[in-house]
Amino acid sequence: MEHTPHELSAAKWGDIQGIKYQLAILPWGATEAHNYHLPYGTDTLEAQYIAHEAAHKANQKGAKILVLPAIPFGVNTGQMEIPGTINMNPSTQTFVLRDIIESLDHQSISRLVILNGHGGNDFKPAIRELYQEFPDVLVANVDWFKTGQPEQFFEEVGDHAGEMETSIMLHIAGDIVSPLEKAGKGQSKSFQIQGFRNGWAWTPRQWTAVTEDTGIGDPSKASSKKGEKYLSRLTDLLADFFFEFSETERDLLYE
Ligand SMILES: [Zn+2]
Repeated sequence: MEHTPHELSAAKWGDIQGIKYQLAILPWGATEAHNYHLPYGTDTLEAQYIAHEAAHKANQKGAKILVLPAIPFGVNTGQMEIPGTINMNPSTQTFVLRDIIESLDHQSISRLVILNGHGGNDFKPAIRELYQEFPDVLVANVDWFKTGQPEQFFEEVGDHAGEMETSIMLHIAGDIVSPLEKAGKGQSKSFQIQGFRNGWAWTPRQWTAVTEDTGIGDPSKASSKKGEKYLSRLTDLLADFFFEFSETERDLLYE
């Protein structure tokens, strides 16, 4: 039996016309430098791939999930001087999110998951704010890079263009990854002040002061195989979450 189509960008009206979708997924990336070997679209391509794989798996089990086109711009206020970085401010993101939720609300799609692929994006404040305006649409955020225990798959996960991201990109878009010999070491400086080092104090990092090659994390041990294994675990986990979140009635969310 054919399962519900999940990819909105590729769907025709007739494909989805009569389907009552339960959940929309919004992949949200960024446009920023990723060391010398990964493309600017890395965060967007990763979020998009993971959303499609997980939604595909969930729909095969009978879910009705629709993946929206990915948003390619993230919060990059700390990287503006790096050529090609395109910043979208948190307040703009909130407006974008608002309009998407309003559209879903009109079509009675009552669940949305933002699949976030960029560390500078933080959707919690927007989700809390919009909760009041659209009480019928329940919105969740998943930072995929904190999901699926990546430390079990990589020797040194890395923060930005490191072993994890490089492995994933080698697997999903190897043709646009430069040979690893071109990559910088991804070395980064840490804060001197103890509170920041320990993580209980926070201030945004000025990227060019922290890293020379724009990477944070050593990509040299990356491989397509590692990326494939991690993605398989990650998308299984997300497929289960998407399925549960799409099926569970609101009054049964708590036990
Ligand atoms: Zn990235």
